[in-house]
Amino acid sequence: MTLKKSQINEIIDAFQIMFPDAFCELKHSNPFELVIAVLLSAQCTDVMVNKVTATLFQKYKTPEDYLAVEIETLMEDIKQIGLFRNKAKHIQQLCHQLLQNYDGVVPSTREELVTLAGVGRKTANVVISTAFGVPAFAVDTHVERVAKRLGLAKIDDDVMRVETKVMKLFPESMWTALHHQMIFFGRYHCKAQKPGCDVCPLLHLCKEGKQRMGIPLRKRKNVQP
Ligand code: SF4
Repeated sequence: MTLKKSQINEIIDAFQIMFPDAFCELKHSNPFELVIAVLLSAQCTDVMVNKVTATLFQKYKTPEDYLAVEIETLMEDIKQIGLFRNKAKHIQQLCHQLLQNYDGVVPSTREELVTLAGVGRKTANVVISTAFGVPAFAVDTHVERVAKRLGLAKIDDDVMRVETKVMKLFPESMWTALHHQMIFFGRYHCKAQKPGCDVCPLLHLCKEGKQRMGIPLRKRKNVQP
């Protein structure tokens, strides 16, 4: 399904009205803490990550701090987080790489960031946009679900394809804000299990919402995202 320009604008307006102040909910005070927080957030809620980092970031402030302890100690410090053993290993590898290759400073480009242990494209996109103000569209589980439900991407598109499509559909200057707004929209409104279709301002252009609400679908001429 191809959405018309006016429908894309409706989506932008709805996100802006519903979540004008959407932001990165992972608490951090510098790019290094953000990288650690995003790394920890894989398959874990932001609430749990914030709970753990509240004490973690008091104890560890630099890459050297994370490398000064045994891996078992770091595992113990993050054991409330899913996949904590692997994440602890990645954190120490990442800190080692930062010191060896980047003078202990988190790099500001996606290309450099993805060379770090535990940092994939999504994490890199979050870091460059949130910490360095570089336009980027990080596609997490919420963005992917919302994009597919609204017909911004096809149901079988992979994450990279979704990212490419939303970047093409939305103005670059809005990518960072829209990324946060789509996460809020998915997290608090268009939830995975019980989306708020009955009160959704985008129901009239959402095929999934109409199906869920038992509203007959009208055929549209423009097709193929
Ligand atoms: Fe999500 Fe329902 Fe709104 Fe569609 S109508 S965007 S499925 S909440």
